[in-house]
Amino acid sequence: MDWADSQEQASFRTAVRQFISEDLPGRYRPDKAGPTTWGHDRHSDDAELKQTSDRWVKALADRGWIAPAWPREYGGAGLSPMEQFIFNHEMADARAPQVGGQEIAQIGPAIIIHGSDDLKREYLPQILSGDTNWCQGFSEPGSGSDLASLQTRAERSGDDYIINGQKIWTSNAHHADYIAMLVRTDPAAPKHRGISFLLLDMKSPGISVRPLVNMGWAHGFNEVFFEDVHVPARNRVGEENRGWYVSVTLMDFERSRIRQAVSARRELSTLLEYLTTEAGQQKSRLAKSVTLRHQVADRATEIEVAFNLAFRVVSMQAKGVVPNYEASMLQMSIFEANQRTAHTEARIFGLYTNCWDEETEWAPRAAMPAQRYVSSVSATIAGGSSEIQRNIIATRGLGLPRG
Ligand SMILES: Cc1cc2nc3c(=O)[nH]c(=O)nc-3n(C[C@H](O)[C@H](O)[C@H](O)COP(=O)(O)OP(=O)(O)OC[C@H]3O[C@@H](n4cnc5c(N)ncnc54)[C@H](O)[C@@H]3O)c2cc1C
Repeated sequence: MDWADSQEQASFRTAVRQFISEDLPGRYRPDKAGPTTWGHDRHSDDAELKQTSDRWVKALADRGWIAPAWPREYGGAGLSPMEQFIFNHEMADARAPQVGGQEIAQIGPAIIIHGSDDLKREYLPQILSGDTNWCQGFSEPGSGSDLASLQTRAERSGDDYIINGQKIWTSNAHHADYIAMLVRTDPAAPKHRGISFLLLDMKSPGISVRPLVNMGWAHGFNEVFFEDVHVPARNRVGEENRGWYVSVTLMDFERSRIRQAVSARRELSTLLEYLTTEAGQQKSRLAKSVTLRHQVADRATEIEVAFNLAFRVVSMQAKGVVPNYEASMLQMSIFEANQRTAHTEARIFGLYTNCWDEETEWAPRAAMPAQRYVSSVSATIAGGSSEIQRNIIATRGLGLPRG
């Protein structure tokens, strides 16, 4: 199989590489910097750090590369799936921070396809500027995998909706200016048909955010409570009670997860490099265990399989075919490969893996094994658990009965 770039793709790749080499601030280049450091700078009170983060946002914005998939008329770059793939590949390879998350991948596209002209005018430029933070209020206690069973209620009152209920696992809600959320507007309708999609200002009276600290002591997600919160009905995206269909709107943007595939490959090669150093050899149990060496070989194979599935998904998109169960195969294989790599790494370093403090000389790779072990747990839950991906593969992909 030949994955080589065509001439046009190769010149686009060169342009992206050149952009990164000229415009990516030096602060985001070292291996432990990248996206995390940019995220930190963005919220920093230090004017110099904030300026560095803004410089990167502006460099991307000038080329429309904050939203590579959005149509040009809405300020995106209108890149083809293959160009997006190349762009994401190069950005991930350089660990260059991506600006915007859900708001670029899902919320903006939902507004572009289903939103009124007023919503487009008001929100799209703010999203593209990178100045506003968004969060996604979908999951509720009791409604995660079975999202359509959500209970947060929005009742119409004149020109407003009044919202009461609770969301959970809301990533970034503590930094967010806006929330895009699903609410129940018709409790009597079948569950998928009584849901609407709303955009809310997080400063609206009646919203409270309570932190959820994860098992790695990090505060990434939250519970969000709504008590008689008023939102103008014009902030609804799409028709009333059709919000479910708005939420599953995915533009024809790149779904190859090439970023994750590239970073899985990089993580493994960084680990292998470390294992050749004196410090690495001292702490590693690899020399004594053929089983561990085989596990490393398994991980390398799984990561290559995921990498190739990424190519498969993007080549389907390039031909205009919408990946279905193939995207689930990819998501499951990449996140499980990552999780298993973290587990193998933990076994390689044995008790040294318990060192959590990056500064201590006992910690291998500045405590990365411990941190990766802990953070890899949630990867097979967020955005649709591995079990749900397996359901999709089994039923839609293999035609097995639903049970
Ligand atoms: C890091 C992280 C960030 C997140 N960020 C957000 C966010 O920003 N906004 C947001 O709205 N949500 C967010 N979530 C929530 C996420 O979408 C849910 O956790 C996910 O959909 C699973 O739902 P649940 O936690 O309620 O688990 P449940 O749905 O209760 O599932 C519990 C277990 O049962 C299994 N299971 C459930 N149904 C089936 C089935 N039909 N067949 C087989 N097994 C099944 C699941 O796989 C899982 O192992 C985040 C989650 C994580 C981990």
